[in-house]
Amino acid sequence: MLISIFSHTAKEYAELVSTKLGRGYSHALKLYTDWFQRGMVNPEASWIEPQARALVQEMILATDFSLPLKSEEKKAGDLIKFLLRFGDGLESESVLIPMQFGTTLCISSQVGCRMGCSFCETGKMGLLRNLSEAEIVSQVFCARHIYGKPVRNIVFMGMGEPLDNFDAVMQAVKILTCSSGLAFGPSRITISTSGVVDHMYRFMQEADPALNLAVSVNAPSDEIRSKIMPVNKKWNMADLKECMEEYCKHPRRQILAEYVLIEGVNDSLSCADLLAEYLQDLRVKVNLIPYNSQSRDRFSAPALEVREAFLSRMREKGYQTLLRGSKGQNIMAACGQLGNKEQRKKLLKLGSS
Ligand code: SF4
Repeated sequence: MLISIFSHTAKEYAELVSTKLGRGYSHALKLYTDWFQRGMVNPEASWIEPQARALVQEMILATDFSLPLKSEEKKAGDLIKFLLRFGDGLESESVLIPMQFGTTLCISSQVGCRMGCSFCETGKMGLLRNLSEAEIVSQVFCARHIYGKPVRNIVFMGMGEPLDNFDAVMQAVKILTCSSGLAFGPSRITISTSGVVDHMYRFMQEADPALNLAVSVNAPSDEIRSKIMPVNKKWNMADLKECMEEYCKHPRRQILAEYVLIEGVNDSLSCADLLAEYLQDLRVKVNLIPYNSQSRDRFSAPALEVREAFLSRMREKGYQTLLRGSKGQNIMAACGQLGNKEQRKKLLKLGSS
């Protein structure tokens, strides 16, 4: 069986290849670096001594370098959404977002999502399946080497609940941060969760403290949160707060509290006051995201004055708060809008067969 280069860190890969071939650990490390840093393997590369060329050729033949197909691409201004199709026909969705200090890449961890947040397009798909670590890493590889974008930050905020696919996501992070490969600093990676509390505790124990954690709070009370986020029925806001308090005990850790502003649901000043109270004593930054309206949707985004009033109130209460613009709405690439309709049809077919 071929060894998948996208599933392993450099050391793991070199170990596997050299065990299989009975030699060549250091050449396997170099081959790995060439692939991830230059996006290619060259059997004629100058680092390969003439007597090692046959060995490297064997390594190449023992390795699976295959990438998923790029099945679709849409642009909105300088923002690009791309879809990668895997062997079973399902697709991941990723978005390249140019920011002031470099490109941010938003990636998917699952096809669909089972968390069912009522304001989210992906949630409407249900979960089709988890992505493997190789499928997660491929999205970053494509952004860097197919699109040639110098990705600065990676956010796990595309399709899926990353902590619901814990092992694959953590292995993907190990590969993305491997210094002989793509070499992302952990502080450039953000994992987002809807509040899967048991896996948040696991994350605290196992993840590099420099990784960033974003928590979708989205409501100031259990009453509102349970209506829009079913996860709140399993772990309510008190459970979530206790977990976030534990998380913030580590001096290097802080939380990014995400809050999707939905008209008439959670956007009043009394909601802002309750939210400020809820977040008290946490090391937290607040990110306000106006809801992205879909056609024939039951929710809408608050008016600009309402968003700004909410922002001002959070700042008055002493929270570092940002109000996000919404790039990419017309290509379904804005927050909560990933999840393409074709895949939803596939799910319906699977369900009826
Ligand atoms: S908001 Fe995130 S966790 Fe909730 S359904 Fe959408 S993808 Fe899943």
